[in-house]
Amino acid sequence: MIALVDCNNFYVSCERVFNPKLEGKPVGVMSNNDGCVVARSTEIKALGVAMGMPAHQIDPHIRRQCILLSSNYALYGDMSRRVTDVLSQHTPHVDVYSIDESFLSFEGFEPETLAERCQTMRHQVRRDTGIPVSVGLSTSKTLAKIANHRAKKEPHFNGVAIMHPDSEDTRAFLEHLPVTEIWGVAGRSAVRLHTLGIENAWQLREASPKHLRKHFSVVMERIVWELRGVDCIHLDDMTQPKKQIMVSRSFGRLTSNKADLHEAVRVHSSRAGEKLRKQSGLAQAIMVFVRTNRFRDDLPSYSKSLVIPLPHPTDDSRELVRAAIAGLERIFKEGIWYQKCGVMLMDLCDHDNEQLGLLAEPVSDEQRERNEKLMATLDKLNREHGKNTVRLGMPRKINAWELRCEHRTPRYTTKWDELAVAKS
Ligand SMILES: [Mg+2]
Repeated sequence: MIALVDCNNFYVSCERVFNPKLEGKPVGVMSNNDGCVVARSTEIKALGVAMGMPAHQIDPHIRRQCILLSSNYALYGDMSRRVTDVLSQHTPHVDVYSIDESFLSFEGFEPETLAERCQTMRHQVRRDTGIPVSVGLSTSKTLAKIANHRAKKEPHFNGVAIMHPDSEDTRAFLEHLPVTEIWGVAGRSAVRLHTLGIENAWQLREASPKHLRKHFSVVMERIVWELRGVDCIHLDDMTQPKKQIMVSRSFGRLTSNKADLHEAVRVHSSRAGEKLRKQSGLAQAIMVFVRTNRFRDDLPSYSKSLVIPLPHPTDDSRELVRAAIAGLERIFKEGIWYQKCGVMLMDLCDHDNEQLGLLAEPVSDEQRERNEKLMATLDKLNREHGKNTVRLGMPRKINAWELRCEHRTPRYTTKWDELAVAKS
């Protein structure tokens, strides 16, 4: 069985851990430079504040009732790690998918015991970190994802929902689930599925995998198998376009050499930058992660990730590499045999929407144009002469990764001088 553990309203929940007064209030967290609302509490959703809404477009009457905070990535990244640490106590197979989501494999566990196990785990995460999570359980990642959604929406599940692939209940649910709600099915594919007469998840499940592979892609074929309960999707296939970009790879053989990791992280972040520029996006933060081979019981296991906020939204590979390497420096541990590392670009925004933010930055137009030209040339050479024809060299000395933000809460868990103060 596979579990998808997802933190509820993650950024807002992190803020609430250190400021319980925010409990029950309409709270929103804004992107870099306090531009758009990127995370929302249930209460602020109820007021009609949409995801991605520019803060200045919120009706002043509603805005007065809301508490809008700047994003505090240092806090969220660290809280995310704490949640993962607790999850790792329940199974050695934890795959971090995004800052607030992890897939857990419960291979080898008695399936009947899992609901209770996951309840215990959920309570422990809450007790040890303060973060509320929901758990979806099934035999494939796609169904676990759907189950997770139900765990959040249907109170009778009490935070842990199981979907058995062949049950009547699953069938009834899938029959009412539009294909657009399925993980990995983009709007464009949905339109084409519609022309084949496939509109809900059950119809997709019953379609011929071979046929769909011919009309779409191998990923769509896998989605059909996944809906039938067969686990066959790789996480790398499934990062959502535009929301986050993940580049990761396993090493050919295990390595404990820091230089190998440096090199890999540099290559991955350059490649992520290339993908980002292709979709005309800007990243506001980058996550770097490393992990060991979880099937090698004879070696110490280690899995760590860290989110590094970027000083301003960027698509410049040099800045991405620099930030990722700074992150790697902090999570690298000597004497560990690593199997995989990677980076994920997060909180992506459109180039066009970032004009406001850019004005706040001391980057001149001239400088900016030069950077853009350089990156365009880099992409062109790599496109025409093959990947990695031109590569970025050693990063410069690390800058302090400071955010420009007015309403950021203290970095309670990562800075000594910003610890919470208890008064008696
Ligand atoms: Mg979440």
